[in-house]
Amino acid sequence: MKKILIIEDEQDISNLIKKVLDSSHYTTTIASNGEDGLKFYKEERPDLLILDLTLPDIDGIDICRTIRKGDEATPIFILSARNEEIDRIMGLELGADDYITKPFSIRELKARIDVFIRRWDNTTNKGNFSRSTITSDGEIIRGPLKIDPVRRRVSVQDQIINISRKEFDILHLLASSPGKVFSREMILESIWGVEWDGFERMIDSHIKRIRSKLEKNSIHPEWIETIWGVGYRFNDNLEKYATLRTG
Ligand code: CA
Repeated sequence: MKKILIIEDEQDISNLIKKVLDSSHYTTTIASNGEDGLKFYKEERPDLLILDLTLPDIDGIDICRTIRKGDEATPIFILSARNEEIDRIMGLELGADDYITKPFSIRELKARIDVFIRRWDNTTNKGNFSRSTITSDGEIIRGPLKIDPVRRRVSVQDQIINISRKEFDILHLLASSPGKVFSREMILESIWGVEWDGFERMIDSHIKRIRSKLEKNSIHPEWIETIWGVGYRFNDNLEKYATLRTG
């Protein structure tokens, strides 16, 4: 059963959506304010979000922005009585997938949700932690970053990155298990297939080169994080999201 979170303060609307979706093949949760919405989102990891813009506490646009900082994959449908172009543009630029203006047809809303859920199902492989998308070809997609193991190609915003074989292997290894910390020894063993004492620092220079090619700012890397005294890991979104919430 696909989980859908409805963040909407107007009870008659949320109840109507819930009734229609629950009678189909979905299970829904209603949050009647932004704070609960973010809390439920974090706890339940829904497969799709329906988000009202005008909520009693947090603006829906800010909720969309907060979620998208750590999760670019989960479909977000904005449902709004605000039919202003600026809201529509803001919502879509922030990564919402659809913008539906009230009053709306519940049948149309359900049809659009069905389409998204089907597409999402076909193209993604949601791990326990990762919100990275992995296509059936094994291509890893994380926001603007794409790692294609078949063509051994890495691109950022569709710009191909000139990356060496070993750099590719290291990036692919880390990105295949987002959130998992790899020690330098583990990377050496996986990529070079041997335990080379004293060669751990070689990993650092490879990581440095990968960052200089990928990261906007290699001093504050977004993709590959350094875990001091341990090694490296590919950014795990949930953790990033937790930092956002508490910091
Ligand atoms: Ca509202």
